[in-house]
Amino acid sequence: MNTFKTLFDKYNWDQILVDINAKTEEDVRRALQRSKRDLEDFKALISPAATPYIEEMAQLSNAITKKRFGNTIQMYAPMYLSNECQNICTYCGFSMTNKIPRRTLTDQEILKEVDFLKSKGYDHILLVTGEANKTVGVDYISNSIKLIRSKFANITIEVQPLDESEYELLRSNGLYAVLVYQETYHREEYKKHHPKGRKSNFDYRLETPDRLGRAGIHKIGLGALFGLEDWRGDSFFTALHLQYLQKTYWKTKYSISFPRLRPHSGGLEPKVAMTDTDLVQLICAFRLFDEDVELSMSTRESELFREHIVNLGITSISAESKTNPGGYAVDPQSLEQFEISDERTTEEVVKMLKSKGLEVVWKDWAHNWQ
Ligand code: SF4
Repeated sequence: MNTFKTLFDKYNWDQILVDINAKTEEDVRRALQRSKRDLEDFKALISPAATPYIEEMAQLSNAITKKRFGNTIQMYAPMYLSNECQNICTYCGFSMTNKIPRRTLTDQEILKEVDFLKSKGYDHILLVTGEANKTVGVDYISNSIKLIRSKFANITIEVQPLDESEYELLRSNGLYAVLVYQETYHREEYKKHHPKGRKSNFDYRLETPDRLGRAGIHKIGLGALFGLEDWRGDSFFTALHLQYLQKTYWKTKYSISFPRLRPHSGGLEPKVAMTDTDLVQLICAFRLFDEDVELSMSTRESELFREHIVNLGITSISAESKTNPGGYAVDPQSLEQFEISDERTTEEVVKMLKSKGLEVVWKDWAHNWQ
């Protein structure tokens, strides 16, 4: 069966970086003038040659986003269900070897967290777990979705990669979208950061969006964890992945996230820094490359940065997030997966968005599970 891996294996990481770094200002200007941009244009837009054009890119990105999405921004909240994990990921506070108290929320605790998030107005929820098949396998996830599906318009998960039939089951139980970030598309570097557990299987993760597409999941979220490898290389492969999926599973919607490494207990320093300016350039490049893709921004980023970026192409945003199981109402003191940066309340973020002329959307699509 053909998957993204067939296409991916035709590319060479080092050569892609050479190509990107060889792009000239003329390539950037050409990319800016085109109405439909391809992967060569994307390479130009993320290249060092595009640095003097970031302001122009930002204005174009803003105009395209307004035309396609209006003045709206979607709100969502993550809800961590468990910090149990059988993987070692060098950058994560929940990594198996970290000696932290482990906890998995019960039905009652989940409902308590839900009450808090509903009181804040959230209708889109992102359920997050580590990877521990015995405690938070597909049965646990399925039960959690069924437990809360009548309370949310839209349920997304960010959990271990699953098989196609498992995704089909979750979809029939009310799952809308799945986020699965490749972390890095650099095969060797990936191995260093995922030495143990099922996540060490690079190809299984790489082919997860194919399984999601085949299972008919409504939306797939892609991304790389910036800081593990050269952000330009990882961004190119994310764009390649997106383009492949859009052609192959054209009924599915897509979103891109831009997580940068954050401090956590037992922390890892970024190998390759990505500055705020780099991230602005990348967000605008993605918008110019793809007018329809949703672009998402979490509370990993600072207050100031988020205020600047919300008008440049971002279409969904979280607020007041907790990255520990039970963090909202059940056990606020438990250890976080990583430290968030923007610690403002939902109300404060909504006020900021409105002051920027944006209309806050809580619900845009709903199943009726009453
Ligand atoms: S990133 Fe996910 S899989 Fe890796 S240690 Fe953390 S929770 Fe586990």
